[in-house]
Amino acid sequence: MLRLTFHGAAETVTGSKYLLEAQGTSILVDCGLFQGLKELRLKNWAELPFGVGDISAIVLTHAHIDHIGFLPRLTKFGYDAPVYCTPATENLARVMLMDAAKLQESDAAYANRKKFSKHHPALPLFDADDAAQALKLLRPTPRGEWFAVAGPFRCRYHDAGHLLGSSMVEMEAAAGPDSKRPLRLLFSGDVGRYDAPIYHDPAPPPACDYLVCESTYGDRDHPTGDLQEELADSVRTAIRRGGVILVAAFAVGRAQQLIYLLQLLIQQGRIPELPIFLDSPMAVEATNIYCRYSAEHDLSEGKLAGSDCAFRGKNVHLARTVDESKRINNVSGPAVIIASSGMMTGGRILHHLEQRLPGARNTVLLGGFMAEGTRGRTLEDGAAKLRLYGRDVPVRAAIVKNSGLSCHADRGELERWLAPLPAPRRTFITHGEKASAMAFAERLRSGRGWDTWVPRLGQTVALEAPA
Ligand SMILES: [Zn+2]
Repeated sequence: MLRLTFHGAAETVTGSKYLLEAQGTSILVDCGLFQGLKELRLKNWAELPFGVGDISAIVLTHAHIDHIGFLPRLTKFGYDAPVYCTPATENLARVMLMDAAKLQESDAAYANRKKFSKHHPALPLFDADDAAQALKLLRPTPRGEWFAVAGPFRCRYHDAGHLLGSSMVEMEAAAGPDSKRPLRLLFSGDVGRYDAPIYHDPAPPPACDYLVCESTYGDRDHPTGDLQEELADSVRTAIRRGGVILVAAFAVGRAQQLIYLLQLLIQQGRIPELPIFLDSPMAVEATNIYCRYSAEHDLSEGKLAGSDCAFRGKNVHLARTVDESKRINNVSGPAVIIASSGMMTGGRILHHLEQRLPGARNTVLLGGFMAEGTRGRTLEDGAAKLRLYGRDVPVRAAIVKNSGLSCHADRGELERWLAPLPAPRRTFITHGEKASAMAFAERLRSGRGWDTWVPRLGQTVALEAPA
């Protein structure tokens, strides 16, 4: 018998943490941070629901913070066992975790300066030393090969097509005294889109006894349409307005997709040649990693002439330092400025918004999901002003939504991905808001007759091996 406990991403999209226990060995699949609403973020501070010393290994699906961001918190409490991931995930995790630690430290310092925290002094959830400690535990492991995890568990990675290095986890728990054959599980991780720029299609899911499947977009489909033409049209319209185009983008993933597509559109003559500024030290580092893994990319939209990497080129200007970032303020003609954070909750994008929003000739391109309560959502909802650095900034720039750049499969794509899979004994629907998870569970139940289940946070289920 095997016990599976959902310590995150249950009726919510963040905090992915699945605890597996069998034959006296405990391991975790993913170790993510809760993000978004305050009641969720507070869970990062709660007492750990398991003993750190009891966990023998951790297996990561990909480098997004809601899947790896809790690792430094575990090392802070003494976790020092292996953490398995693909080689590209290991590279990206170095950038992501150090950045997350810096953010934690600066948030705590800010709270102490402003004295708004209940705690004196306010402390970071973890610091750079904890993150560095977590990074020492990473064990890069290639896709496609079985590897021993701990005790009865072994694993194999398959491409999930969601982010560089992203993988689904096929897991086997060796037969115990009460079973004749190994128990097979599949963790979808985050499933990518079909025909997405840069990424390969998600690999077909291997057969399993139990499936843990994400449902971020389990209740809706992305708008159909030609992604490249939509982007080209937005850029051409913005150029006619005469100002700059400001894009808030996740530093890892979205920024690289945009740079690739914009350069391709220039090369094809579908948009005029214009400078593209990438203003984010983290995005610059991530771009270097993307270039290092050129062999892993699917560039079927087109190859770029005269560049060794799809994310570099004569029109692309990288801004690492604060001075380089400030110099972008002097740019007036047609230009694209890409900065993070993706939902405008912090980062250098805020400076650019402060400078560009009051200009009626400028355009702000919204390129992805904007969660409730973020500045990105406020702009999407058509606000006339935006709160930045304690003052209201008038919104005179054009706000344009370009929704095709999601890196998550929508409902139809999840169904397409699952189509070849024989019915698992039970499918657990996770990593979605409650309505989305419920809707997708119902769809698989009524459409395919599958036994589906939406677990609650902290719920444990016992999984039996087939006789
Ligand atoms: Zn993800």
